[in-house]
Amino acid sequence: MNYIEGFRDPAVAAHYRDSLARLGAELAHGGKDACFMEVCGSHTMAIARFGIRGFLPSGVRLVSGPGCPVCVTDPGYVDAAISLAEAGRIIVTFGDMMRVPGSRSTLAQARAMGYAIESVYSSATAMELARTHPDQEVVFLAVGFETTVAPVVAMLDGAIRQRIGNLSLLTAFKRVPPVLDALLVDPGIRIDGFLCPAHVSAIIGADAYRPYAATHGVACVVSGFEPLDILQGVEGLLQQRVAGRAFVDNQYNRVVRPGGNPQALGLMERYLEPVEVSWRGLGVIPASGFKLRSHLADYDACIRFGIDIPSGRPNPRCLCGEVLKGKIMPSECGLFGVACTPEKPLGPCMVSSEGSCAAEYRFASLKRRDE
Ligand code: SF4
Repeated sequence: MNYIEGFRDPAVAAHYRDSLARLGAELAHGGKDACFMEVCGSHTMAIARFGIRGFLPSGVRLVSGPGCPVCVTDPGYVDAAISLAEAGRIIVTFGDMMRVPGSRSTLAQARAMGYAIESVYSSATAMELARTHPDQEVVFLAVGFETTVAPVVAMLDGAIRQRIGNLSLLTAFKRVPPVLDALLVDPGIRIDGFLCPAHVSAIIGADAYRPYAATHGVACVVSGFEPLDILQGVEGLLQQRVAGRAFVDNQYNRVVRPGGNPQALGLMERYLEPVEVSWRGLGVIPASGFKLRSHLADYDACIRFGIDIPSGRPNPRCLCGEVLKGKIMPSECGLFGVACTPEKPLGPCMVSSEGSCAAEYRFASLKRRDE
């Protein structure tokens, strides 16, 4: 089945429950187990929200990966953004970044001190602010994976066409394929299959995952976000694991094409080039980010204002790095739900609406309340 008519049909859910149980028994019979990783933060949230882990047979683990853009943004980036605000620039950011801890404080705390830090829903608002405040410098915090990169670059394209000269980007763009490469060569991490992200795949295409199946023998299923999408995705991964095969299965073919979105990819190619960047908890990964091409230096906040993004100091007690690599589940962090809660987060995984710790805290709490 490639296309699900009723995304929340109980009869179809029961079909997947039974199928997963059957495949789990086959896996155990063959003396194998499985560890799959969901790469995308929206999947993490949907898996927790819909209780998908409750469908997994014994011997099958589903761990979260580094697909929450806010969670993997280095604390030094927050420090740099606050420094720009302190220097009188208007900082514009998506709301998720506001409470992410930097080394000294969060953007929300800096805003409380009186600095001009605006939380917006769309990057287009940054362009509008720059247009309506021509005497001030507006810096947009360009944080995100390929899904976000494409519309931000489209916004920049619009700003350039309109000759808006007081807008720049502080980039923390991230690319999914290089971080998957980094995870697969880490001997401390076991991954038998990737539940590949949905929205990112709509940009980069399902073919981007072929190397992981062909070279690393890792099963790949591109999945949507509905509960039945995810169940079907996990079933696809388990089928490959039981059969001892690895290939790319594009379950989300109602949205994702093999080659992605050529228009978005073309725009990104014109404006951006890959660059080595630092990931919170994962370190520096070659070619895992994007920076503006050299002919766009005027729009690069680091070049325009002569700053470097410092390395930053994460809270040493926070285990977000281990969570983001799938090495531990959030509840295995000793601070989870005790010293670290969504109200008083110590790490970004508890801040973001796509963070693993926030997802587990929120939905495990709901489950406890309902029992
Ligand atoms: S529970 Fe809090 S301190 Fe622990 S890993 Fe998650 S965000 Fe970090």
